[in-house]
Amino acid sequence: MTPITPLDQIRTLLGSSGFLDQPQDKEPYEKPWRGKDFHGKAALVALPTSVEQVQKIVKICHHHRIPIVPQGGNTGLVGGSTPDESGSEIVLNLSRMKRLRTVDPIGMSVTVEAGCVLASLNDQLAEQNLWFPVSIGSEGSAEIGGLVSTNAGGVNVIKYGTTRQLVMGLEVVLPDGSLLELLSPLKKDNTGYDLKQLFIGAEGTLGVITAATLSLVAKPTAYQTAFLALSSLEHAPIILQKAMHRLREYLVACELVPRLAVELVCKHLGATQPLQNPTDYMLLLELSGTCEESLLSNLLQGFLEPLFEENLITDGVLAESGKQRAQLWHIRDHISEAEKKEGAMVNFDITVPIDHVPAFITEASTAVSTLVPGIRILPFGHVGDGNIHFNLLEPTPLAPTAFLTHKPALKKAVYDIVHRHQGSISAEHGIGRERKGELATYKSTPALELMRTIKQAIDYYGVFNPGRVF
Ligand SMILES: Cc1cc2nc3c(=O)[nH]c(=O)nc-3n(C[C@H](O)[C@H](O)[C@H](O)COP(=O)(O)OP(=O)(O)OC[C@H]3O[C@@H](n4cnc5c(N)ncnc54)[C@H](O)[C@@H]3O)c2cc1C
Repeated sequence: MTPITPLDQIRTLLGSSGFLDQPQDKEPYEKPWRGKDFHGKAALVALPTSVEQVQKIVKICHHHRIPIVPQGGNTGLVGGSTPDESGSEIVLNLSRMKRLRTVDPIGMSVTVEAGCVLASLNDQLAEQNLWFPVSIGSEGSAEIGGLVSTNAGGVNVIKYGTTRQLVMGLEVVLPDGSLLELLSPLKKDNTGYDLKQLFIGAEGTLGVITAATLSLVAKPTAYQTAFLALSSLEHAPIILQKAMHRLREYLVACELVPRLAVELVCKHLGATQPLQNPTDYMLLLELSGTCEESLLSNLLQGFLEPLFEENLITDGVLAESGKQRAQLWHIRDHISEAEKKEGAMVNFDITVPIDHVPAFITEASTAVSTLVPGIRILPFGHVGDGNIHFNLLEPTPLAPTAFLTHKPALKKAVYDIVHRHQGSISAEHGIGRERKGELATYKSTPALELMRTIKQAIDYYGVFNPGRVF
């Protein structure tokens, strides 16, 4: 009699609708959102519908030492959620586990399964005027398990913090298949180590998150959004500081948008340049609250007038309707997509102390232009928390392959400058396979050793996302 293989055991467990093993069916789960890097081959794509199924799959893999790649919406940009080329890894995709288990309107929390898409969660919460305040360009695909596993940031960190600040509890299937039940609606719980923190930002290296209890806020009812032309990049932190004091708790986003980014979104995605007199760098500023709209518009106008008088900004537009607001955000949210259409890129997701942002951008721009004359530089993103996507595009006459040969030198030049500014090589996208070399270089030895000790203690057979992060 032929012995039943571990993959057959998983197929039997999940039934015919619960797995994919044909090449054309597996392919969408094997390739990343961006480009060709990290496009691998899975032994099987498992699509469980319950925690019990996840536990059983993990137990089989643990027993037979089969590597597992947990996967959510597959929008991570660092090669953490796709299988390697070996064809031996199983993709454990959580997308069919997407139920809202409970909403607590008094404690302002929701317990939701890991496969729920962020936008879908917020659509469902809107019925109760509640909101989970993580706002990212990939919200139509990114899932709660992915968000927690990458400690996603986004445009509202300035007000609400990163995902970590909003996670109250987790349910995790550990590498041996046992269930770690840490779901909790409690705002206070000082009973030893806060174990959930280990799994937030762990990028699937310590187990599978199957559900989370998340902290909510009242859904804003009023918005004011401005798109402002900076007379100098140096003015971004100065304006931010003024905004923190004048706009107070209503300030929710402060995003840097370079002129080139607007041009690319207009060119590839049919947007319209919002300003008559754009400058090299612009700011997208947003206020929101559960208040009268007039309160926000008075506050914003009173804030902007002195900025014009002091020549900190030279042009600006205020969104006068929900449609105009959406048009401004469309530009900001589609920069990555427009870049992707424009050509070969080298991407960064760095963070430096906010007041170092202008110096970082200036120094890094000089360094990369020296290495690759004509390189197109697009530093954009969350200047409100110091997180800049310092993205580099091939010079127009250079072929993509020739440009990408410069990638190692460009990375080293930029990361050395980040390090000098006491910054981090990854603000929000994580390490995955893309940045594990740099993690080894720039993270301190004691910190790396402690991380390895934790990995070894929890995933002693190294089954979860091997070769990612470390
Ligand atoms: C257009 C665009 C804009 C983006 N903007 C932002 C932004 O502003 N801020 C930001 O932080 N990120 C941003 N991202 C990156 C990405 O969307 C986030 O990292 C997101 O949190 C990933 O969620 P996901 O469900 O797609 O996870 P995946 O890509 O599927 O997985 C990401 C990592 O988490 C692990 N993982 C996934 N699910 C689980 C689980 N249930 N248990 C354990 N491990 C798991 C995977 O193994 C992988 O290592 C953007 C991406 C795109 C494409």
